[in-house]
Amino acid sequence: AWVLEDHDVSKILHSSDPGWRAGSVHKYRRGVLGLIAGSEAYPGAALLSAGAAVAAGLGMLRTHVPPAIGAALLAAAPEAVPLSATELKQLGVRSRRNDKSTTGRIGAWALGPGLDATDGNGALAHALASELPAVIDAGALSAVTPGAGEARWILTPHAGELSALLARTGLHIGAAEIAADPLRWARWTAVSYDAVVLLKGPATVCAGPDGYTVVSRSGGAELATAGSGDVLTGLLGSLLAAAGPHPDARTLVRLAAAAAYIHGRAGVLAAAGGPFGAATLLQTLPVALRDLGV
Ligand code: AMP
Ligand code: MG
Repeated sequence: AWVLEDHDVSKILHSSDPGWRAGSVHKYRRGVLGLIAGSEAYPGAALLSAGAAVAAGLGMLRTHVPPAIGAALLAAAPEAVPLSATELKQLGVRSRRNDKSTTGRIGAWALGPGLDATDGNGALAHALASELPAVIDAGALSAVTPGAGEARWILTPHAGELSALLARTGLHIGAAEIAADPLRWARWTAVSYDAVVLLKGPATVCAGPDGYTVVSRSGGAELATAGSGDVLTGLLGSLLAAAGPHPDARTLVRLAAAAAYIHGRAGVLAAAGGPFGAATLLQTLPVALRDLGV
């Protein structure tokens, strides 16, 4: 597997779309991310994902969060534009990528941080049916079906969540066994779900359904802190929205690994200031992007 180094990151981001981050592009062309996240139990996850998406520099963030945390989200990320349940319903199965009349200009999704998996109002189902590329994390992982990814989804489990994904295919593999052979199980899951899998851990393994694998080893154990994964989801969603309109599975694998690499670098920068919590990553993300030439 390809193990990323510093100079790979900007190459990956720029080759995913030649116009990426060009100075003169319109905000809608720069990338619009739809974020469905948060619950009353986990309000902070939505705030961290939204903050990371904005910190990574996208064109626009559309957010769908429970009403109880709407005000807190806008305080944390005033750039966010709420996405109503009505707009979400209009997405439907007929929507097509970049059709602004039906997608609210959304080009990619970040789904799941802190989300209540019951999907009470069907928001997740609408997003998953929209045919747009999506980062699927945490609470949204329980909404995906084996074989249904059509290689446009990036699933971002840690070992425990991957174990649950495998259990739904009838395979019972514990988190410790997964952590002992992350390449094998990331690839296995990518095939089973026909989706890209970003498996988190001391190394982040990103695998596509064809076996193509890219690894990031940046960052250290200081990233193992609550909310850290929510930051990664917002960051990856932002990169995905900013990439070209029809990313293939290998592009998704490379973008996922690049996001993990940037996330790790942001962790190293945060750790230089002493012990830190995940919110500090929102401050160091832009510095990491600059240092990596993005
Ligand atoms: P989550 O479990 O969703 O909060 O995600 C945790 C994040 O921290 C992921 O990006 C992991 O890859 C990262 N992480 C966890 N443990 C380590 C570790 N020992 N070394 C490096 N990164 C880690
Ligand atoms: Mg998580």
